[in-house]
Amino acid sequence: MYTYGELLDDVNYLSRFGVETGCIGASKFGRLIPFVHIEGGGKPVLVTAGIHAREHVSSLFAVKQIYRFFSARHTSDVWWVPMVNPDGNALIADGAEAFGFEKNRLIALNGGSSNFSLWKANAAGVDLNTNFDAEWGKGKMNSRAAGSENYVGERPFSEPETIALAEFTQKIKPCLTLSYHAKGHEIYYEFGQSGEALERDRRIAEYAASLTGFSLINGTRGSAGGYKDWCVSALKIPSLTLELAPDEFSHPLPDCSVADDFEREPMLPEKLYAFMVENGYV
Ligand SMILES: [Zn+2]
Repeated sequence: MYTYGELLDDVNYLSRFGVETGCIGASKFGRLIPFVHIEGGGKPVLVTAGIHAREHVSSLFAVKQIYRFFSARHTSDVWWVPMVNPDGNALIADGAEAFGFEKNRLIALNGGSSNFSLWKANAAGVDLNTNFDAEWGKGKMNSRAAGSENYVGERPFSEPETIALAEFTQKIKPCLTLSYHAKGHEIYYEFGQSGEALERDRRIAEYAASLTGFSLINGTRGSAGGYKDWCVSALKIPSLTLELAPDEFSHPLPDCSVADDFEREPMLPEKLYAFMVENGYV
């Protein structure tokens, strides 16, 4: 699996070659949450990954994309937050021992098991992709109890990771956000928008579907409180959730499960930005 330690090594390596890097903030247990910026022209595009701990292949995919942008010709201005949930990643990679006297509480939240390979939440047991202020708590799968997935937290933006990502997004003002998850080869873009915004967002999502070969999902499928949901409803910008890795793989996903996706379309943010320019959306 791609770990937080490997991400820090990659970010450090890129910064030594002059790439702008930094942190959007820190996780609940004090792990810095890195960003990487590959400069270009026009308005920024923001890419996030690794908000769900067990979907560490999404972070691997994002970092591979950063290296490709670094070495290939590109014109767009792209920011990546490749691992929004470093505590969750550390919990899977290093176990509950990495959290000191929280160890027993975490094992209890994990149903008594010390195998965290299917854990999605942060290390407080909050599913970060339900903690944004967008119909918070109204999702079909939402839970009111801390655990490995679906717990919405005590209130919208109760978690330092979601506050940091929301503040960073408001600071850089992207014209498009992409959120990498796994698995299933699906693209989500809807969250109550209508009229021209819905038409714009559907066309961008259709184009993303044609580039990736993923299925376009209309409607929300009962989602609420997600980062994409918040970008669409609060910021009024197109925002896609992309489920990488084909369905035939099972969780925990092996690194190779996103290899074909990367080969097929390594420059997705660049192409989507160009499409938005061509169509007058930016
Ligand atoms: Zn996910």
